[in-house]
Amino acid sequence: MSLAEAPSPSPSSSSGSDDFAALLDSELELASGADSAFPGDPSSAFPAATDDEDEDEDEDEDPEVEAVEQNGTKRRRVEEQLQDQGTSVRPDKIPTGASKNVQVEACPHPGYFGGLCFRCGKPQDEENVSGVAFGYIHKGLRLGTSEIDRLRGADLKNLLRERKLVLILDLDHTLINSTKLQDISSAEKDLGIQTAASKDDPNRSIFSLDSMQMLTKLRPFVREFLKEASNMFEMYIYTMGDKAYAIEIAKLLDPSNIYFPSKVISNSDCTQRHQKGLDVILGAESVAVILDDTEYVWQKHKENLILMERYHFFASSCRQFGFGVRSLSESMQDERESDGALATVLDVLKRIHSIFFDLAVETDLSSQDVRQVIKAVRKEILQGCKIVFSRVFPNNTRPQEQMLWKMAEHLGAVCSTDVDSSVTHVVTVDLGTEKARWGVANKKFLVHPRWIEAANFRWHRQPEEDFPVTAPKEKSRDIDNAVAGKKETSKDKEKETMKGKEENAAAGQKETMKDKEENTVADQKETGNDETNVAGQEKDGAKENAVATSTTGYPTDS
Ligand SMILES: [Mg+2]
Ligand SMILES: [Zn+2]
Repeated sequence: MSLAEAPSPSPSSSSGSDDFAALLDSELELASGADSAFPGDPSSAFPAATDDEDEDEDEDEDPEVEAVEQNGTKRRRVEEQLQDQGTSVRPDKIPTGASKNVQVEACPHPGYFGGLCFRCGKPQDEENVSGVAFGYIHKGLRLGTSEIDRLRGADLKNLLRERKLVLILDLDHTLINSTKLQDISSAEKDLGIQTAASKDDPNRSIFSLDSMQMLTKLRPFVREFLKEASNMFEMYIYTMGDKAYAIEIAKLLDPSNIYFPSKVISNSDCTQRHQKGLDVILGAESVAVILDDTEYVWQKHKENLILMERYHFFASSCRQFGFGVRSLSESMQDERESDGALATVLDVLKRIHSIFFDLAVETDLSSQDVRQVIKAVRKEILQGCKIVFSRVFPNNTRPQEQMLWKMAEHLGAVCSTDVDSSVTHVVTVDLGTEKARWGVANKKFLVHPRWIEAANFRWHRQPEEDFPVTAPKEKSRDIDNAVAGKKETSKDKEKETMKGKEENAAAGQKETMKDKEENTVADQKETGNDETNVAGQEKDGAKENAVATSTTGYPTDS
């Protein structure tokens, strides 16, 4: 640790501020992952710092057995001292010149607390504020870059020893869906949705956030998802929503505070407007996996991102995205637990985790990069497919630059502009094109472009017969089926007849939504009405995502 390593501790550093820095340091380390050393033990949610404090000297591991016991005490002490620091330490009292006879090295100011260096006590240079604020760990905490690097390094070492990676989880539309009470539709009211939310059933999945006048629905499978993911990942919540909202939701998802202690990041923690960044995570980028339904906010970290299918439960959420059919809530349906978005992505995460650690048997774990693993796993999906597109892209554009082309390549397919016998799939929306007819004559798969998108979201090659190229008039029927097909219907026979349609249906729904989202964006831009979202929830991101992901460019039905 930085302070303990100082060669000649000055009197000042042994009095208070040293101790304080040490405690803070251990606090930071535990906040950044040392707790993963004690998975599943609620009493160890705040374990003491591990042997990483002396990274190089302390190779003979001497785990502090009593560490867990001490945690609570240690944490309380930190907090007391933090308060003291804030109120009683004043710049003129800081013992910077106190060491008359001891040589003192210039303090590198590893970080600040309430504007004062937590090592030497010097006030921060207000003209030249450096480093990154970590208000979600402690209010008023700011760390310099080298201290961040040091903590990340220590965290990485801990994580890899525990065979864990970092998982960053978005809230809205990824793990949950929320609505303002005032936006509840009359159908939702009639169905007693508020009553369901205020019931005292521990297994319920709709909750009333009274202080915020909101209802929140947990996405099916989320509890199991978090439980299983926590064995493989150190997890963060990262939302563009407000802090108070984020904390309320974290309580719903993690009532015992075992998954996300000091790991709830909200809009006030972002360093760039409308962008989420890994700069506020004390974990290395090379081990960070992000789950988010909004690609736009992760401009700098697309390689870490697994894009999630949006979860719209409430009517207001559907409306907000211009998605005009009955909501899940209104039709008393939901995503399936067994193969919904979270179950699907859990499988992907398991695969990523296993490749990361298994491949590394012969290489150095710390040189592994999860971004490469994500890329490799994605490339397995359409491995062996050779795709020709027919009249899918606008004229006068280079097909190689079209999003759908790139997406297919990322999924491991080979894309070609010309047909030959090695082609396996003709992707088109029009049965009458020359290539489509060639495909039929040569017994190739003819699929709708949604076949590629669906594979992209579900991380599996989808059955081709579920994505037929249909005549335009049949299209609307597909879309009608979309909602019902995606969810658990209460009527089993309906389920049976629709079984074959389900996959296709969900994709149909997605397309509809995407089209509408574009329109919504256009409307919003014109009226300048940006902030139509639920208070507290993420703002703007959805809108901009619509722009960012309205990509595929294939003609839609008219
Ligand atoms: Mg979201
Ligand atoms: Zn300093």
